[in-house]
Amino acid sequence: VPTSVLESWATRCASAPDRVAVSYFDQEFTVTESDRLADGIASALEADGVGPGDLVGIALQNVPQFVWSILALWKLRASVLLINPMYQDAELDHLLEDSGAVGVIADFDSTPHLRRSCERRGIKWWHTSVTVLAQQEGATDPEDLLTRARDGKARRTNRALPTPDSCALLTYTSGTTGPPKGAINTHAGVVTAATSFARIAVVDDTDVVLAMAPMFHITGAVINAMLAITTGAQLVMIGRFDPETAIGEIRRREVSFSVAAITAYLALANQPTASPADFRTIRAFYSGGAPVSPATAERLEAATGHYIHNVYGMTETTSAVIAVPLGSRAPVDPMTGVLSVGKAMDSVDAHVIDDQHQRLAPGVQGELVLSGPSVVPGYWKNADATEGAFVDGALRTGDGAVIDRHGWVFLVDRLKDQINTSGYKVWPREVEEVLLAFDGVREAAVVGAPDDYRGERVVAYVVADPGATPTDAQMQAFARERLAAYKVPREIHTVASLPTTASGKVQRRRLRSSSVWDLS
Ligand code: ATP
Ligand code: MG
Repeated sequence: VPTSVLESWATRCASAPDRVAVSYFDQEFTVTESDRLADGIASALEADGVGPGDLVGIALQNVPQFVWSILALWKLRASVLLINPMYQDAELDHLLEDSGAVGVIADFDSTPHLRRSCERRGIKWWHTSVTVLAQQEGATDPEDLLTRARDGKARRTNRALPTPDSCALLTYTSGTTGPPKGAINTHAGVVTAATSFARIAVVDDTDVVLAMAPMFHITGAVINAMLAITTGAQLVMIGRFDPETAIGEIRRREVSFSVAAITAYLALANQPTASPADFRTIRAFYSGGAPVSPATAERLEAATGHYIHNVYGMTETTSAVIAVPLGSRAPVDPMTGVLSVGKAMDSVDAHVIDDQHQRLAPGVQGELVLSGPSVVPGYWKNADATEGAFVDGALRTGDGAVIDRHGWVFLVDRLKDQINTSGYKVWPREVEEVLLAFDGVREAAVVGAPDDYRGERVVAYVVADPGATPTDAQMQAFARERLAAYKVPREIHTVASLPTTASGKVQRRRLRSSSVWDLS
């Protein structure tokens, strides 16, 4: 097993130098070209003072420079801070302050505020734009990192590889349950997660991987980009995700594989002209990061012709740790109606514990805890959070779960989101699944609202299908037939959309904090 992605990349540079490594619309870059550009970027950054142990931010959409900049920083034994380029001033200031990054690489043409943020803090900044990517020759912006990478005399002396336990990526959690926390994804962790996921999903150098998930999140960075880099698959990049563009590239590049949030697949399926013919070349789709209801899975299979394999992961586990093995279909839990997220990958030990930290038997519900090389050693500069996150060396996921006798893992819900109504415990997910099964309901989120009498009452927010007008009374009647009375939502609000994180997850905490959520 290689100790870092760089080690596996070096093997690839030697064994398949002329294969296409990355593409961006009409442009293709071979392994050798990509490596030369990564070396060029490394030399430019080094000339500007970046060296071992430095932390440098990258705030880009999915463009080839993202991959080359990561490789460049790793070659310098520097660490990468992943930054959502859509962040606004306050979010950026917090991220840069908390992380202590010495500089940021971004496309400052599309994100001028980011440059101001760097200047305000007196840290370095570098820009690189897709316009320059397209211009192979001739008059280009001389300051663009890519121009500098192409023009400069890249130093290709043998650089030492980063140590396996040093920080490869500093990645902030999605912020679904609280403020985002910085997770230290090590070199060993990244290469372990990517290669172990490649085994369960059977990805190899004959695959063409579409980078649908944003690389500024752990899923996009590790099981789109680094999956392709470590297996030798071709990585197809399309900038910011857009369903029409994605379908066009799937057809043109004959894409065979992707991992994305379920919301991205729904966007593909909702394209008016989309049909299974568009997805003819696909071998497997994986969806991760947020629950997939059986109703949604069926709808997607009808629309795309493909079974959507589930994968579970966290920022703290360097993405995938549990996944549906390629070719298997996840069972449904007869008690809750929830689809399994899969089986533990070969690099991880998954089990369920009770409040006293005792391991529970198969079939018994508790908290999911995980250990293995891809589990982070801790949070960035946050000893308190790190201490609270581990028990007997295993990471507490904060997710309620059951593992059956065959190793299938069923997520019950986030432990923090459990609703207590008149002393009864309600898992929002179970109620959401029922609402999603109601014809005309496209999305559903259930939260507890403060209630003088019950402590909390069950409140639902739903988004209707276009043209559908489900009424509260109909939905409540439907729920009453399928759930105990205390679980049936007291209120149901039909809204235009639900608040989501950039990684495509519903933020129940924002629904809790607003009396009525409404984006319209
Ligand atoms: P924060 O930790 O800041 O509150 P977050 O937990 O959403 O945000 P991530 O690390 O992006 O940040 O997400 C990990 C969580 O996502 C898991 O703990 C789990 O609750 C959820 N999750 C991941 N994959 C799946 C899946 N396949 N099905 C259901 N839930 C999933
Ligand atoms: Mg979390």
